[in-house]
Amino acid sequence: MDDKVLLQVQNLRKYFHVKGVKGPGVQAVEGVSLEIKKGETLGLVGESGCGKTTLGRTILRLHEPTSGRIVYDGKTIYDSGSIDIPELDKNGRQILGKDGKPLMKKSKKTSADMLPYRRKMQIIFQDPSASLDPRMTVGEIIGEAIDIHKLTNTKAERTEMIKSLLNSVGLNTEHANRFPHEFSGGQQQRVGIARALAVKPEFIVCDEPISALDVSIQSQIVNMLEDMQEDLGLTYLFIAHDLSVVRHISNRIGVMYLGTLVELGESYELNKHPLHPYTKTLLSAVPVPDPEKSRERKRIVLEGEIPSPMNPPAGCRFHTRCPYATEKCKEAIPELKEYDKGHWAACHVLG
Ligand code: SF4
Repeated sequence: MDDKVLLQVQNLRKYFHVKGVKGPGVQAVEGVSLEIKKGETLGLVGESGCGKTTLGRTILRLHEPTSGRIVYDGKTIYDSGSIDIPELDKNGRQILGKDGKPLMKKSKKTSADMLPYRRKMQIIFQDPSASLDPRMTVGEIIGEAIDIHKLTNTKAERTEMIKSLLNSVGLNTEHANRFPHEFSGGQQQRVGIARALAVKPEFIVCDEPISALDVSIQSQIVNMLEDMQEDLGLTYLFIAHDLSVVRHISNRIGVMYLGTLVELGESYELNKHPLHPYTKTLLSAVPVPDPEKSRERKRIVLEGEIPSPMNPPAGCRFHTRCPYATEKCKEAIPELKEYDKGHWAACHVLG
């Protein structure tokens, strides 16, 4: 893993307007900020409906952001404007003020043409059968991406590239002439991965890539993604609701609740010393292979349902279900603060 930051997201919001309803609509992602280093896997976990898939798609601008800033490889690909950013000198270094703190300025509105970034930033979808066009052969599906980005000059080169991609994901070259319905779920996901790899991406949003697959196939796909990362130097945002999978593959983990990022830290540290009450709840639900340890462990069960993102609670969004909630939690939004090196959480009771 490199020290270079490949992706930076600042105060990103995504609201979906609901026809006939006044107000902001569905507040799916609320003020999320994070960074991903080159070659890193950042895992993103949370219950279904917490906004993790929307966040992944908004980063790729498959959903247009409502506000915030996205910087990819040093280039701003989206900026709603007026975001606090550091002043840089000619060499790209931060300029410090007299007090030693970085000088800040307001960012300018930007919306980059995404075509060049579509090649660099790819996605592997959750449901492989729904993401592959049933009328196209596997060769056509993979070839389509090659054609859009004009990656080969001759028909022979294109055919060679498709064959090599199929081999790299453990499929045979004759699979190129078959249709998606002729494959198992695991094979369909391999096709989805080959399609993403066809354009030689740098960054891939893996959107619950194994949750629709049999347990026996899941580890094969995870291992394949890990091998590909090592071979090709890929950077992943790995989205899943299963913390046991995410902690296996991720260098760092972000925990989301109702559109907000509530904790972020190194995978080992977050698993051993979780800070946020919601992370502790998620970890208590992860099965332990040792029956004795499993009996000793106390599972934390949250009261109530996850509130609607159309009308999220004021203050800390988790306060309606949090066993430690105080009056302050109902009014004030907790800030994401660093409590240990690289370990961040948003909770008033942590101080
Ligand atoms: Fe619970 Fe309050 Fe912390 Fe939110 S801020 S997690 S409600 S204690």
